Amino acid sequence: MRRISALAVAFMAAALLAGCGDKTAYIDGERIAAADERPGDWIAHGRTYGEQRFSPLEKINVSTVKDLGLAWSFDLPENRGIEATPLVVDGVMYTTSSWSIVRAFNAKTGELIWEHDPQVPRKTGVKACCDSVNRGVALWKGRVYFGALDGRLISLDAKTGKVVWSVVTVDQSKPYTITGAPRIIKGKVMIGNGGAELGVRGYLSAYDADSGKMLWRFYTVPGEKAVDGAASDEAMKLARPTWNGKFWEVGGGGTVWDSMAYDPELDLLYIGVGNGSPWNRDIRSPGGGDNLFLSSVVALKPDTGAYVWHYQTTPGESWDYTATQHIVLADITIGGKPRKVLLQAPKNGFFYVIDRVTGKLISAKNYVPISWATHVDTVTGRPVETANARYEKGMALAMPGPLGGHNWMPMAFSPKTGLVYIPAQEIPFPYMQPGGANANFRYKPGAWNIGIDTVVAGLPDDEAALKAVRASLKGRLIAWDPVTQTEKWSVPYSGPWNGGLLATAGGLVFQGNATGEFAAFDAATGKKAWAFDTQTGIVAPPMTYEIDGEQYVALMAGWGGGFAVSAGAGVDPRSEGPRRLLVFKLGAKKALPARPVSTREMPTLPPVTATPQQIAAGAASYAGLCSICHGASGVSEFSIPDLRYSAVTTSADAFKGVVIDGDRVDAGMVSFAKFLTPAQAEEVRQYLLSLSHGQKARMAAAKGAK
Ligand code: CA
Repeated sequence: MRRISALAVAFMAAALLAGCGDKTAYIDGERIAAADERPGDWIAHGRTYGEQRFSPLEKINVSTVKDLGLAWSFDLPENRGIEATPLVVDGVMYTTSSWSIVRAFNAKTGELIWEHDPQVPRKTGVKACCDSVNRGVALWKGRVYFGALDGRLISLDAKTGKVVWSVVTVDQSKPYTITGAPRIIKGKVMIGNGGAELGVRGYLSAYDADSGKMLWRFYTVPGEKAVDGAASDEAMKLARPTWNGKFWEVGGGGTVWDSMAYDPELDLLYIGVGNGSPWNRDIRSPGGGDNLFLSSVVALKPDTGAYVWHYQTTPGESWDYTATQHIVLADITIGGKPRKVLLQAPKNGFFYVIDRVTGKLISAKNYVPISWATHVDTVTGRPVETANARYEKGMALAMPGPLGGHNWMPMAFSPKTGLVYIPAQEIPFPYMQPGGANANFRYKPGAWNIGIDTVVAGLPDDEAALKAVRASLKGRLIAWDPVTQTEKWSVPYSGPWNGGLLATAGGLVFQGNATGEFAAFDAATGKKAWAFDTQTGIVAPPMTYEIDGEQYVALMAGWGGGFAVSAGAGVDPRSEGPRRLLVFKLGAKKALPARPVSTREMPTLPPVTATPQQIAAGAASYAGLCSICHGASGVSEFSIPDLRYSAVTTSADAFKGVVIDGDRVDAGMVSFAKFLTPAQAEEVRQYLLSLSHGQKARMAAAKGAK
């Protein structure tokens, strides 16, 4: 690494001579590879190409953290999930909000320098399985790069925020979205996409950072044609025999929607590949098969997109067990030998230690309770599944569920403690085949196509059953030893869906949680060393930087994402709050504005006029089409309307106007006339009205009890 370091130093000297004014955010691969030489900056998504999310900064440490306070904050006008990691270089912070809006701030003062709104059509929101979120930007040679929800990849001038180029990376007639942060390697901008729940074929593309020209595309699953003229053509010869039937009709899935990492010495790009489309393999690939490269980590050559190796975590995946979770590269000693490893805790509940040179499994152990497999056979590298894991003989209440033992929220690895810090969770889920012999599955372009029984998968309507479900939902910060594959310590939370991690040389790990608490823990013991009430639920990971000798810790706060929007009934009410960017430093004492008070008024409700059969039909339509945004069993989290409290639900005309005629398309609610007749929409309304009456009665009872 000395050669790279020397080059970086030479470059910095050249940059100084050239005048820094022309070199705003002048990042290149050598500078990212030498990130540790300028630890005050945070110039790539996971700070380094190896994505450890470990900072060498140590002024904020176990002894000083008690003096950490708010230096500045910025309240975001957007009201959806906030998932970005801010980047900081040369005193400027670049970050994103929901609807792919990008902002640049003076990282010391919080002054807004520029803002870029790519004007994502709000109707794109229904293509996003898991909220209209964005996980951040990439920087390269004076430009800022980000993916917009509607599938565009956009390059901005880092100084002004003006568009340099913009390209469409997806077929926008299909339900593709981009929520992940691009990564840039040797002048090539790597970007994937999401949409496997709705029915797409996953891929990663590389674009020229300078011109926006597409250089190569790697499909992760086969298509109808044997050859696509893509970088993946050779790899698809390996993948195609592992599939059966007409899988391409529902896309096949395998979207690359989040994780990537890069090893400059091996010159290998690692990508995490998502779940099948539909989830249910019996429908997707009748007769079975591993369905490569679903749920796999794939190593590619970044220059050409050529396949090098893969490791499949969940062969023939049937549970939405993506392997898109954060990938960490580390050099650790196992059995007395130094090993170059790749670490991942994907949704399926196993923690994997993989040799990143060869792709061979070193070890795997479950980091949360699991029901679908007993263990991973280290000789074959394959999981050993339990009976009825694939719900072939009836409903299987599985752990983990589709939200995973760990979702997109990044882990962190500290080379000082040798531990990986995992934002883990327990969210069980009932998987069941849809109707007899899959007879009821019909691909619905533009809607969810997951191939399981969505009514069974919903949350119960009665309060006692819901309470039991809530009690089964858990969240924990786990400190995991990747060498011994054991838990060193853990911190329990009130529920799942907590924030991503940051580890520092100050001996601390930072994490925000669903209740709005942002805390620092002793990295060695898990003892809480500091906490701050952000007044809003947190899913994003913190980051840290230094300016003029002072260390700062930054965090984007504001809840959202898959669990938040789809399972309102399981949500901690403390997660409701403003969306904001918070920056902390030692000795600062700024206070946040007073906590906003939220009130929900029940409109005057007309009586329910439908028959029980019609209400049941409405409930089934709602579960299949509406629940993924408005919440299972009609209980929404707060950023998408809770239809039990909606005045629209009280009027047949207004409801038809929104659901059939598309009256609220500008707010993101598209017409569902493709899927529902006006009579079926009315059944949905009657079902929601019945829920409103139930909720009104509960509110009255709660008031009476006070
Ligand atoms: Ca998925």
